Amino acid sequence: MEVSRRCSNILGSLTLEISARVKAMKAEGHDVIGFGAGEPDFGTPLWVVDAAKEALDKGLTRYTPASGTPELKRAICDRYRRKYGLDYDVAQVVVSNGAKHSLFNVFQAILNPGDEVIVPAPYWLSYPEIVKMADGVPVAVETTEAEAFKLSPRALREAVTPRTKAVIINNPSNPTGSVYTREELREIMDAALDCGLCAVADDIYEELVYDGAEMVCIPTLGDRYRENTIVVSGASKTYAMTGWRIGYSLSPHEIAKAMGNFQSHSTSNPNSIAQYATIAALNGPDEGIIRMRAAFDERRRFMHARINGIDGLGCLLPSGAFYMMMNISGILGREWEGRRILGSMDFAMALLEAQKVAVVPGICFGADDYVRMSYAVSMHNIERGLDRIEAFCAGLK
Ligand code: PMP
Ligand code: GLU
Repeated sequence: MEVSRRCSNILGSLTLEISARVKAMKAEGHDVIGFGAGEPDFGTPLWVVDAAKEALDKGLTRYTPASGTPELKRAICDRYRRKYGLDYDVAQVVVSNGAKHSLFNVFQAILNPGDEVIVPAPYWLSYPEIVKMADGVPVAVETTEAEAFKLSPRALREAVTPRTKAVIINNPSNPTGSVYTREELREIMDAALDCGLCAVADDIYEELVYDGAEMVCIPTLGDRYRENTIVVSGASKTYAMTGWRIGYSLSPHEIAKAMGNFQSHSTSNPNSIAQYATIAALNGPDEGIIRMRAAFDERRRFMHARINGIDGLGCLLPSGAFYMMMNISGILGREWEGRRILGSMDFAMALLEAQKVAVVPGICFGADDYVRMSYAVSMHNIERGLDRIEAFCAGLK
């Protein structure tokens, strides 16, 4: 049977595949250390788990409104009011099956065939595919390590064509860990609005910022910015709830309505139990977040110092999320067992084979001189993993 042109054009998610491969190797008894993890290595807070049990006991096992329950939407609005001083009404909220699904719906709602979307690179690998699935055209705009991997207003303007519809701003960023300041965001948004674009703000890592960095939600810049921004976030990273699959978006009314309609014919409502539990997460104490943030903070500093001490490797100190880009350009061209390492895929494959350490090749984020290292990994394994990486690099010819 023939696969459609649309699906032949879509690649599977390599981040999910690497995580699955590491889990499978561990299950087979291999001592693998995975720096590929795209999810917190913490359990969901107990009060959230208890709320899910309560939902089951209460028999909340039926369909809910397709775009989410009014109670959860209210809890989301309350949180934006508390955290950012932003007033959204429930009709602007759409709850979906994870932030990835929210992003999918966003691009279905705003793109016509051939519309271009600016994707700052290094980018989270699903953006280009999600845009393509909506018949849009992703346009990668490179950023450099020297500018801390942040999009400049100039680079944005240069990439705009008459077909450009939107720009994706992922803050804090996966895979770079960069966090934009308020001033930087204002300048980028001024350029975007001048060019008639809207912004899709992927704030999924909003609670994971370090060194006192401010998390700026774009709509807090003012009404003009808010009217042209769709904010996406969710429960996955903030509450260690990746498997529960709850994401949400806050948009202008007409976009939220379109997304809700679209969702009503595709997935219907997200899981009713998970929705109920997310209310407990949003309204509950911040203990879990504070604990995770402190652990990530310590690991990030340790990894940064260790990596910069290894000959041929380097990295910036990330300010947010739980990833860093490790620069491997000093290693490229060297040989492992007669195989020349020419790019990030060669590096990742050789490292896995030689030392059973998994990293994500930067090529899937549009940055072949890097590999992505997650620090959602225990300190013990970070230490062991970096020892192995050091041994691997030292053994290259
Ligand atoms: N955006 C970014 C930048 C991510 O890294 C992820 C990771 N999963 C998502 C969105 C999607 O999150 P979710 O698990 O809620 O679909
Ligand atoms: N977003 C995480 C990552 O980048 C999880 C996997 C995925 O959804 O891509 O690794």
